[in-house]
Amino acid sequence: MSASHSILDLIGNTPLLRVNSLSELTGCEILGKAEFLNPGGSVKDRAALGIINDARQSGALKPGGVIVEGTAGNTGIGLTLVGNALGHRTIIVMPNNQSREKINTLRAYGGDVRLIPPVPYKNPDHFVHTSQRLAAELDEQLENGAFWAGQFDNLANRRFHEVTTGPEIWQQTEGRVDGFVSATGTGGTLAGISRYLKASNPDIKIALADPGGSGLYNYYVNGEIKVEGSSISEGIGNSRITANLADTPIDVAYRIDDKDAIPLLFDLIRSEGMILGGSSGINLAAAVRLARELGPGHTIVTILCDSGLRYQERLFNRDFLASKGLTLPAWLAQDSA
Ligand code: PMP
Repeated sequence: MSASHSILDLIGNTPLLRVNSLSELTGCEILGKAEFLNPGGSVKDRAALGIINDARQSGALKPGGVIVEGTAGNTGIGLTLVGNALGHRTIIVMPNNQSREKINTLRAYGGDVRLIPPVPYKNPDHFVHTSQRLAAELDEQLENGAFWAGQFDNLANRRFHEVTTGPEIWQQTEGRVDGFVSATGTGGTLAGISRYLKASNPDIKIALADPGGSGLYNYYVNGEIKVEGSSISEGIGNSRITANLADTPIDVAYRIDDKDAIPLLFDLIRSEGMILGGSSGINLAAAVRLARELGPGHTIVTILCDSGLRYQERLFNRDFLASKGLTLPAWLAQDSA
């Protein structure tokens, strides 16, 4: 008999999936790491497990201690499922402009969700600072203490990608990978994977995909963080260089507009049966850009971060899309005509 004894054993070791339509379009192999298949439904299960394992080992998180985090949602879901499996309650501080599906999922897992207004990072009421303060207060009050996960600057995040996602990609491509491209929120995914891939072969091109509303594209191209535009994607983009992202060996940066990413996402639903979230659309549009730059015959890997079903009320909502200058996929536009 072969059975996993914990849901935590199902985190990682995700399949690598060829995106056929984009591979045919570009003459490259465009491969997506199917992170939406993690038990919590996103790439952030990895960061959650990496951070919690590290904190339990170091003693920063005591048995029965409470986990506190500020998150756009997916990390909170990952932390709550990992916490449940290991005997820790979670308190999740989240900006109130994130998708209702993520909030409901967190609540279904039993996370204690605290929604607060979104404000810039320099404001002390930003969700990251609010969660850090709350963790410090609770650590004083609770018998088993509280631990602040601090995913943006806690290097256990990128380390977990460096020892799992990176080697998985290397093995799954048998070392025949020419480029890796990803958008970044905390930086953990891009930084951890790039470090491993560059150490394995320094010629692998590492590309940053940046959505509207983020300042990282300008930082890597012009040396100055400058935020422009906006995006319906969630969980990606930043206006600062986090500790996880610092020193990442980025060769090229692309600014990707929703007008390129969202229609591509809709096409994949009908051409391949894949319903993916906005950040995966940004990643795949950037993979096409990198493929054009490298030319036919190359292998490019990116991340399929989470499912589009996590954003149904926005991604498939005529009025929401129209307010962003986007349109419904043809089959839904017909149904509701
Ligand atoms: N896509 C989605 C949907 C996410 O929630 C996140 C994490 N916030 C990312 C991509 C980016 O991952 P990372 O934090 O590792 O940069």
